Amino acid sequence: MSKTTTANPPDATDADVLGSICQAIVRRQRFLLTSHARPDGDSIGSQLAMAYALEALGKQVRLVNADAAPDHYREFPGVDRIEIASSSNAEADALIVMECSDLARTGVAGLDQHFIINIDHHAGNRMYGALNWFDESAAACGEMVFDLIRALGVPLSPEIATHIYLAILTDTGSFHHSNITPRTFDICRQTVESGVNPAAMARRVFDSNSFGKLKLIGALLDAMELVDGGRLAVLYMDDRMLESSGGSYDDTDGINNFPLTVKDIQAVAFFKDAGPGDWRVSMRSKGDVDVGAIARSYGGGGHKNAAGFTVAGTLEQVRPQIIGRLVTAIGEGLKSRPEKF
Ligand code: AMP
Ligand code: MN
Repeated sequence: MSKTTTANPPDATDADVLGSICQAIVRRQRFLLTSHARPDGDSIGSQLAMAYALEALGKQVRLVNADAAPDHYREFPGVDRIEIASSSNAEADALIVMECSDLARTGVAGLDQHFIINIDHHAGNRMYGALNWFDESAAACGEMVFDLIRALGVPLSPEIATHIYLAILTDTGSFHHSNITPRTFDICRQTVESGVNPAAMARRVFDSNSFGKLKLIGALLDAMELVDGGRLAVLYMDDRMLESSGGSYDDTDGINNFPLTVKDIQAVAFFKDAGPGDWRVSMRSKGDVDVGAIARSYGGGGHKNAAGFTVAGTLEQVRPQIIGRLVTAIGEGLKSRPEKF
């Protein structure tokens, strides 16, 4: 059984919390669903799988996010139903927040008045809900949503299966990260039995780039620096690079996985210019190299192999300390036993 913490009661198990969430859902009619700002495949997939399941139970559902889904997710079922707003006064009997370690991660103001159901797998979840289900062992929040949908007795429709698979495919870094378990494949098996075509999904998610994104990848890799004897790759991006390549900010999503395809590179730091004096740092790593802990110490979050944060200062000011932390994390991570097949 995975470790679960909940606000009420303090020593509840996964099964208790899941049962309480099911009861709360069955008793309520109108639901508002949200996820984190700058949504990724897990936030979109978890949110929409949940939406279709609630509607299968005859519930009313509205979805709100701070930012639009990246282009390559827009053709997935229901994505066009997500309202984009920086604040919401929607009436609902419950708000289900997925993928957010605190409510501020939604980027949507006005949500604190609701009866909140918090479903998340990010370490450091603040337990801000009336019901809190936190399972750090889930490879994607979509795995938790899958369990909830099953517990509610809703069959896997093609739409639900598609969104669960999308969540898992993207949050495992297309089955690369160290958070994958037998449960991950068991859930994926069930989604494939319900009609998901893994090859078509991979094509839509990973082989749907614009030409501008390809040019941007070229420019970023051209300017990439190697540190720590080639074990750490550092990428930088500013507006000038975006303009000259014709790529968009959304296109930067996933680019930091590329350097990891090099055998010796153990971690990647991607510095993105995020407006005056701010840098968004997005990190990726292999095996036991823990970038999640670094992100949390800077007020951000994420997982062992994929995490991020925003930091104030010039690049010259922020870069040395962050690089130092990553070099230490690589040294620590490589001390453990080599990954076995
Ligand atoms: P990204 O590098 O933006 O793809 O994010 C990688 C992972 O870290 C995802 O699970 C994000 O939800 C999480 N993450 C990124 N930035 C933050 C942040 N500022 N606060 C909390 N979690 C974050
Ligand atoms: Mn996730």
